[in-house]
Amino acid sequence: MSSALRQLTDILQNSDNIVFFGGAGVSTESGIPDFRSEDGLYNSEYKYPPETILSHSFFMKQTSEFYQFYRAKMLHPNARPNDAHFALAALEKNGRLKAVVTQNVDGLHHKAGSVNVLELHGSRGRYYCMTCAENYTMDVVLEASDIPLCSCGGTIRPDVVLFEEGLNQHVIEKSVQSIREAEVLIVGGTSLNVYPAAGLIQYYSGDKLILINRDETQYDGHANLIIRDNIGETLGAAVRAIGLM
Ligand code: ZN
Repeated sequence: MSSALRQLTDILQNSDNIVFFGGAGVSTESGIPDFRSEDGLYNSEYKYPPETILSHSFFMKQTSEFYQFYRAKMLHPNARPNDAHFALAALEKNGRLKAVVTQNVDGLHHKAGSVNVLELHGSRGRYYCMTCAENYTMDVVLEASDIPLCSCGGTIRPDVVLFEEGLNQHVIEKSVQSIREAEVLIVGGTSLNVYPAAGLIQYYSGDKLILINRDETQYDGHANLIIRDNIGETLGAAVRAIGLM
């Protein structure tokens, strides 16, 4: 075991107030591409970049085209959690981890068994009617051939935050509170360049900021421990070492 991994293991073993903040890198190991990365969705066959298609105005004006793209590129109905998700769920179950704050919309933390998951950008597992607010699951999108419609005739939309839309204030406030009160903050799978990631990390005032990321981030200088490795392997190894997985 490397000394960094041993340090991580010690920290996990000795805290009951860990918060995890994660980005797209947590899910790439489950086969979900980061659409912001070079080999992500950008090199795709669509007329518009993903950030245009996944915007509020595009959804409102070209709903059918939105759903063509969304169905093909965003759903990943068969994606399974990886060791990062399972390790975090195990830490929570064991009373060590208080919250997972995620920028991902794939719902994989819930699938792995995590309970307190703060989904900053919503979840592609949840849908609702824009007219009557009736709730739906992903099945409604998988079953419709074009725009999914409510029994009232209204258009159904994903409960995800589209570009041009504001984040859910309640989720933001709970995330700020969790990070502010955390003893240990683990940041993984994010370059911290995307709003609101960097802003949220600033609320952490402890001395156990752990960054697990393949690439450098602008926060490296603030970190107490940096691990440049695969996040699933790293968290999986640490949580196995303390016998929780
Ligand atoms: Zn409706």
